[in-house]
Amino acid sequence: MATVLIQCSHTGRYLSTGIDVDPDTFALLPEVAIRIPCPHCGREHAFSKGRAILVDPSRWSENPKVEDCLLKATECAELAGKARARTRRQLFLRLEQQWVRLADDFQRIADRNAENGVGPVNAPRR
Ligand SMILES: [Zn+2]
Repeated sequence: MATVLIQCSHTGRYLSTGIDVDPDTFALLPEVAIRIPCPHCGREHAFSKGRAILVDPSRWSENPKVEDCLLKATECAELAGKARARTRRQLFLRLEQQWVRLADDFQRIADRNAENGVGPVNAPRR
């Protein structure tokens, strides 16, 4: 399963459409016109299948700090996949794990802040 995201045209950040689908099914979906409220800029964005991207739900968060870490983790995983030397591949895989751990830490801090009513309000964790 993958989560369907669209990009906020004002902040450049991604937001979830709330659609979870496998890539084969997504390819078969018709173009539909729906508008999605944006947690980043507070406006609504039109969903367009052509501009949507599919992501692994465990590699995506609406919390910008968490999302940045998860993007880095994904980059490192891609670099590891391309690395020819074994030591280089292992280095990128270690970096990937560290970014994922950092993302978890940021998420925990955000969750705790939300419980205590401090800091910005974050999207609920999926
Ligand atoms: Zn927006």
